[in-house]
Amino acid sequence: MQSPHVLAIPYPAQGHVIPLLELMQCLARHGVKITFVNTEFNQERVANALSRKDDIGDHIHLISIPDGLEAGDDRNDVLKLMETISQFMPGKLVELIEKINESGDKITCIIADQVVGWALEIAEKMHIRRAAFWPAAATLLGLSISIPKLLDDGIIDDNGTPRKNQMVQLSPTMPAISTAHFPWACFEGLTAQKKIYELALRNNKAAEGLDWLVCNSIYELEPAVFELFPSILPLGPLLANNRLGNSGGYFWQEDSTCLEWLDQQEANSVIYIAFGSSTVLDQTQFQELARGLEQTNRPFLWVVRPNITEETDNAYPKGFKDRIATRGRMVCWAPQQKVLGHPSVACFLSHCGWNSTIEGISNGIPFLCWPYFVDQFLNQSYITDVWKVGLNLNQDESGIIKQAEIKEKVEQLLLDKGFKARAMDLKQVAAKNVKEGGRSRTNLNNFIEWVKA
Ligand code: UDP
Repeated sequence: MQSPHVLAIPYPAQGHVIPLLELMQCLARHGVKITFVNTEFNQERVANALSRKDDIGDHIHLISIPDGLEAGDDRNDVLKLMETISQFMPGKLVELIEKINESGDKITCIIADQVVGWALEIAEKMHIRRAAFWPAAATLLGLSISIPKLLDDGIIDDNGTPRKNQMVQLSPTMPAISTAHFPWACFEGLTAQKKIYELALRNNKAAEGLDWLVCNSIYELEPAVFELFPSILPLGPLLANNRLGNSGGYFWQEDSTCLEWLDQQEANSVIYIAFGSSTVLDQTQFQELARGLEQTNRPFLWVVRPNITEETDNAYPKGFKDRIATRGRMVCWAPQQKVLGHPSVACFLSHCGWNSTIEGISNGIPFLCWPYFVDQFLNQSYITDVWKVGLNLNQDESGIIKQAEIKEKVEQLLLDKGFKARAMDLKQVAAKNVKEGGRSRTNLNNFIEWVKA
């Protein structure tokens, strides 16, 4: 019998690479050989960030193909990236699979991010078993699968454009989603929206009728969605801690000295601030945030990615670094999963990316929400309105989140013990799910069996 050999391919963005690689670590522990396909651009970053560690096990082979963009192109331009890779990468992927198959170590299964539906199309054409992985909230996938219903109900037109701004509920027990936050409607300009909408349709079609459509969520976080769309199976939280390992696939080298710094802080005292991998703050907002953190008079650990604002060297308010030196720490990239599991961390000021959301939830950390884009608004409404484990930071009339708002919300969040208590309840739910007998664990075990069969 052919031994199991999975080819895994993420959408080439940080928040997609980390959880898919984590899922592959779970498979690899069960003896499955993995070929994990990054773009050349990301592969170089992952390799550089990994240079000091050995976080990718022997069973996982990282391999790369070009993404079709030029070296200097902006890979945070989602439309350009999605369009280019869907035209350029399929041919490269077919060549890669043929080459691997010729070597005798045949690919037995392709696990692709749902967002790269073209990889699922290739698997079908090449008669290779396939499964789709969804790294965001299941609700968002449910929304995308519901496009025909949104059309029938007259909520969107044939181009996916919402006919009016309204709140939409897919089922009475699901949170309402603003049409303005439909993933394809968040892009600027009708042409861009239409293109993203068409790519979403293509991805939905590619994932139709699959045996496995798995996601990094937890049943209890989005029960109505899992009831409404039983084909979506939660495996989460997919976190390195569950297998007592380190997570890999980072694009930046983590600064783990901040863990030692956290060791020196009081329990439950530190504000952790991180905006994921691609959010950019303008200079005014960056300075306002710095001042807000200063005003809280609390210890804080702030991830200031090299590209978080146009000019990080002179970005801070004058004298800021000296004034906060004894209680503030800035790092380029934190070992976030470990930071959130550290007893000194009191709350998480987050852009509400899904990975950050799941990681905060799994560690019982209350949130201050600062969503920017696409699904982050939906995640924020889960955090603040459904699970009630956080507060939203509100912009003033000029669109800025002011320092006073930051200080006030930090106080409010940390004074009201209800937020922490509810967050700790969710932590238990997450832990129960990944223990033997838990729902996510059972789904994962069944999935692994399927992959190995
Ligand atoms: N992350 C990290 N260190 C940092 C900032 C982020 O390890 O300093 C990780 C974080 O743990 C998460 C991912 O990067 O797994 C970001 O994914 P998310 O979905 O939250 O946001 P995105 O980057 O997709 O906007």
